Amino acid sequence: MKRAIVTGITGQDGSYLAELLLGKEYEVHGFVRRSSNITRPRLDHLTSDLELYNQRLFLHYSDLEDMTTTRRLILAIQPDEIFHLAGQSHVGASFEIPESTCEFTAMGTLRLLEIIRDCPKRPKLLHIGSSEIFGLPTQSPQSETTAFNPITPYGVAKAFAVQMVRVYRESFGFFACNAICFNHESPRRGESFVTRKITRAAARIKLGLEKGLSLGNVEGQRDWGFAPDYVDAFWRMLQADQPTDLVLSTGKLHRVRDWLEIAFAHVGLDWRQLIKLDDRLVRKADPATLLGDSSLARKLLGWQPSTDFEKMVRQMVDADLAIAREDLHAAPKNC
Ligand code: NDP
Repeated sequence: MKRAIVTGITGQDGSYLAELLLGKEYEVHGFVRRSSNITRPRLDHLTSDLELYNQRLFLHYSDLEDMTTTRRLILAIQPDEIFHLAGQSHVGASFEIPESTCEFTAMGTLRLLEIIRDCPKRPKLLHIGSSEIFGLPTQSPQSETTAFNPITPYGVAKAFAVQMVRVYRESFGFFACNAICFNHESPRRGESFVTRKITRAAARIKLGLEKGLSLGNVEGQRDWGFAPDYVDAFWRMLQADQPTDLVLSTGKLHRVRDWLEIAFAHVGLDWRQLIKLDDRLVRKADPATLLGDSSLARKLLGWQPSTDFEKMVRQMVDADLAIAREDLHAAPKNC
């Protein structure tokens, strides 16, 4: 049985990756942050399964700020593979909290590399990079060879981490790779991301729980994929013969406006009457159109994104409708 550590297991990708690894008979050790609130909705279906939880799925308190604990756990668990997903993942928020974004994402990754350097038997490492490292790219589409040019604190932190993983691979012979991911979404996407804001608003406005939504730039374009496809590639990358950095993307561009069209049409509403455009919500620096070229991943891993854009948006709206219906039934009734 293979043993894996997943940092960021409570996040969107971490929860799908845990499912995938458990399905492949791994023993999975998830690192979680200590907080006063112990609800972990993305993991509830796994932690409530007594045949899995504390049998093949274990959760350990470990913060990226607390590397003595991380070191102790890694030495005790002796994993075959580490999937390093944890980090402050919101680009916009990185302007508000640049120091902690860099501390967790950049320095956290370097410290993890240093711990692995000391392991008697080094585990394989997968680090999740980001298309934000390209910022204002010099070429389109972007591939593994495109120069870094980040323009957000998040992008700068990821660029540091990606490059450090390369340094440790090349200088110390680590089996360490970067998955350079373009945006990927799912019903488990955090509610502060524009995609989920839209699908959630469509559902809640439809059910009368909300009246409208304010957004910044609806013309922004991204290469949006489906999160479960991307975690499948994470796993494949560590099964390859050689460690390689790979771009994961769909190679197709869509606008924020497309999310609005599809999500609101799915619930029979016209978004133009419900969305307020607010200049204060426009991001300070928005990367130019980022479009990924994942042909190397497709060739080396036999990987390809499976879910089409419209289907993904509708699936997210359906999931948000189910949550909104629960909220509606839980809401106190007026006497
Ligand atoms: P989420 O925001 O859903 O999850 C982030 C995870 O990191 C959570 O488990 C969170 O814990 C954990 N975390 C954050 N800060 C710390 C910390 N200081 N110590 C320990 N754990 C911490 O992100 P995703 O699942 O979407 O993304 C996974 C990774 O992929 C991230 O590194 C992200 O930057 C990167 N990425 C994601 C893309 C996307 O489109 N989804 C695109 C490109 C890269 P908690 O639950 O306690 O907050």
